[in-house]
Amino acid sequence: MRIHDLVQHQRTFYYTESTKPFSFRREQLNNLRNMIEEHEQSIIEALYKDLHKSEFESYTTEIGFLYSEITSALKNLKEWMKPQKVKTPLTHAGSKSYLYQEPYGVTLIIAPWNYPFQLALAPVIGALAAGNTVVLKPSELTPETSSLLKEMVNKWFDPAVFAVVEGDAEVSQELLEQRFDLIFFTGSVPVGKIVMEKASRHLTPVILELGGKSPTIVDEDANLDLAAKRIAWGKFTNAGQTCIAPDYLYVQRSVKPELLSKLKQAIKDLYGEDPLYNEEYSHIVNRRHFDRLSEYLNDGELIAGGERDEDITAIEPTILDHISWKDAVMQDEIFGPILPVLTFDDLGEVVAEVRDHEKPLALYYFSENEEKQEEILSKLSFGGGCINDTLFHVANPHLPFGGVGQSGVGSYHGKASFDAFTHSKGIVKQTTKFDLSIRYPGRKHGLKLI
Ligand code: NAD
Repeated sequence: MRIHDLVQHQRTFYYTESTKPFSFRREQLNNLRNMIEEHEQSIIEALYKDLHKSEFESYTTEIGFLYSEITSALKNLKEWMKPQKVKTPLTHAGSKSYLYQEPYGVTLIIAPWNYPFQLALAPVIGALAAGNTVVLKPSELTPETSSLLKEMVNKWFDPAVFAVVEGDAEVSQELLEQRFDLIFFTGSVPVGKIVMEKASRHLTPVILELGGKSPTIVDEDANLDLAAKRIAWGKFTNAGQTCIAPDYLYVQRSVKPELLSKLKQAIKDLYGEDPLYNEEYSHIVNRRHFDRLSEYLNDGELIAGGERDEDITAIEPTILDHISWKDAVMQDEIFGPILPVLTFDDLGEVVAEVRDHEKPLALYYFSENEEKQEEILSKLSFGGGCINDTLFHVANPHLPFGGVGQSGVGSYHGKASFDAFTHSKGIVKQTTKFDLSIRYPGRKHGLKLI
C-alpha cells in the first residue's frame, strides 16, 4: 500500500471508533506480547546480526524491557482510561468537571538503530494503549531487525491499526509529508529538528527523544569501587551506542589515578583480556560510524583499549586522558566505546562547564555527600539521571523518561507513555436545573431557577 493510502486507511479505521474500547486496546497489547514471545529467538538472532548484541543484552535491554512495559500497561490501562473528576470552583456552581482521556488518532513513530527493537516498540505500547493507530518506521541501519519487525507486525496486526514502513531518510521524509495527529521520534538532534520543522506545517504535536553529551561526574568522596564498575557497565553496554551512556567522565583531581586504575580493572572484569572478540561485547553498527569513532582515538592520551578490528567494525572499550573541551571527541555526542576524561578541582567548575553546553539527556553524579548531590540536582538541568549509578533510571517505569532543551521534548515509559499518546480533554458538565446570571452583562446578579 502506498504511504498516503496507508495513512488514509488508518484514519478511516480510526473514525469507526473501534480503537477506543478497553477490550480492543487490551487485545492489541496482548497481541504485541504474543508476537514478541513467538519470535523471541528470531529477535535475538536479528540483533546479533545487526549489532553483535549478546543474548543476555538482547534480553535485558530489549525484549525484557518490553515485556515489563506491556505488563504494566495491561495492569493499569482501565484506570488510566477513566475520565478523571477534578475540582470545580464556586463560580461554576451546579456543574462538575472532568478530564477525558482521548487518543490523538493516527500516529507516526520513527525509530533509531541502537536498540532497534526496544526503541521501535516501546512507544508503540503507549500508542496502542492510548487507542491510537500507528505507522512505525524502523531504522535502515539495522536491516535484520527492521525486516523482522515488518514480518512480525504484518502477521499479528491489521495494518489499519499498526503497520511497519521500512526505509531510509527518504522514506522517512515521505512519511513526514503526511498529516499525522502525533509524531514520536527517537534519534539524533539534527534529524529531530527536521522532524519538528515538518510537523510544524500541520501543527502536529511531537515527542522528540534525542541525545547529547551526558556528563558523568566523580567527586572526591565517591565510592570509587562502585563508581568504576557502574561507569564501565553504563559506558560499554552496547559498545557505548546508548543514548544515555556516560559520554565523558569528569573526575576530581585527587581521586583520578585511583578511579582510572579501577576503571581499567572493571573493563577487564566485564569483557576479559580481549574484548574485541568477546561474545558479550557489541560491535559498531557500520563502517561509517566505525570510521567516525576511529578519528577520536587521535585525541588526548590513550590509557586503556584503543585496539580496533575493521573487518568486524569493533573498537575496544577505550579511555582517553588529558582531554579538553577543545578536542574533537568533546564536540559531539560520542555514541561509541570511547570515554574521554576531564579533571576538575572544584565542583563549581563542573557546574559552569555543563551549563555552558546544551542540556544533556542524562547526568550521573558519584558522591557520598547528600548536600553536594542536591546541589548538582538543583543547579544543573538535564533529562534525567542517577546519583551513584548510570543508566538505571531508564528502567524504572515510574520515572518518565525524556530530555530537556536540545536533548528532547516530552517523555514516556510507564504511565507517561499512555499520557504521551493521549490528549487530556477538559470538560465541564453543566446543570440545567438553574442558571447563575452573574456571567451575563447587564443582568441582575443572582440565581435564576429555570
Ligand atoms: P538518526 O537521527 O540518524 O535516525 C533516526 C531515524 O530518523 C531513522 O529511522 C532514520 O531513518 C530517520 N532519518 C534519518 N535522517 C532523516 C532525515 N533527514 N529526515 C527524516 N528522517 C530521517 O539517529 P540514529 O543514528 O538512528 O540514532 C542515534 C541518535 O539517537 C543519537 O543521537 C542518540 O542519542 C539518539 N537516541 C536517543 C534516544 C532517546 O531515547 N532519547 C534513544 C536512542 C537514540
